[in-house]
Amino acid sequence: MVRTTPPRPVDIASIFPELAPLARQAIRLHPRPGIPTPYESSIGGPLLWPADEEWPVCAEVHDDWQLPVSLDDVRRRRALLEAAWLRPRGPKENLLSPEERALLDTLEAGHPWHGEPNALLPVAQLYLRDIPGLTGPDGADLLQVLWCPLDHESGLPAARLVWRDTASVVDPLVSPPEPADVDPYGNYVPEPCVLHPEAVMEYPAPHELPEELAGRLVAWGPAEWAKSHPEDEDESGGAYYQYELSVAPGWKVGGWGPWSFCDPCPMLCATCKTECRPLLTVSSGEWDGGSGSWIPLEDRVPPRPAGLRRPSDPPMVSIGRGYNMQIYICPESFDHPHLENMQ
Ligand SMILES: [Zn+2]
Ligand SMILES: [Zn+2]
Repeated sequence: MVRTTPPRPVDIASIFPELAPLARQAIRLHPRPGIPTPYESSIGGPLLWPADEEWPVCAEVHDDWQLPVSLDDVRRRRALLEAAWLRPRGPKENLLSPEERALLDTLEAGHPWHGEPNALLPVAQLYLRDIPGLTGPDGADLLQVLWCPLDHESGLPAARLVWRDTASVVDPLVSPPEPADVDPYGNYVPEPCVLHPEAVMEYPAPHELPEELAGRLVAWGPAEWAKSHPEDEDESGGAYYQYELSVAPGWKVGGWGPWSFCDPCPMLCATCKTECRPLLTVSSGEWDGGSGSWIPLEDRVPPRPAGLRRPSDPPMVSIGRGYNMQIYICPESFDHPHLENMQ
């Protein structure tokens, strides 16, 4: 099934013509529960990987004060909570029985560090044929993103990008190694999702605009918001441009960075100092209270009761306090290291 983002409620570039030249295409990925194969684009799915190519590992020293858990712990924890959320419950009944609570505590308690190296975990696999406008190095038709599912110095998992020519994968790897240590709540463990890529147009987050223009957009918001939301008596809407008209929420390729809680800093390539461009946004969820108009038409009626795996967040990845991880790459060379930022 395709996913269709409704047209933006306002054509913002017709009201603020300064925005028109800043329009950029982004591809919303719309990850949804599924069982992707190595031959499909996916989030958290199996990668098409040559059997004779070494599986990437993280060699950094991990010594966070919180102990890591295993992938199996994460899967069992999610299954336990999913079942608990889905069963009927009386008004004063606890979510978990005492036995389940004890099991949950065990699953979150962690194990001693296995130490390095830690095998990387597949995050995304994007066939270029599925992602309009995404180009890679000569000959590559696939982008694979893996990461070490633990906090690193940046407060983010450490990602690795692999561009691949699928024609060269003759003998695919069947059982890839798995990380022994993952973060205690599985925040960096994506559930398998198939993708429904969709092109949308974006404008920069207000943080990336000249202060004067951003100020006019904030001043314009409340009255415009009130027109379509007469029931909202709080006269909110100062962030109308930011939430509804600038950057699309959720996992996406390209477009503008989803700057939100911190001021943008120049994302300059460490090798050549060129300004890097957004490649992939890893998101903590596709919609929430502040981004309702971005909900695809096909998702407006949830297909079934929602448990732990919410319809707005099938990959179940969580970055910081519900933020995004933005991966940037250098436009000059695919060999230059990528940048990561929490936004
Ligand atoms: Zn690591
Ligand atoms: Zn560079």
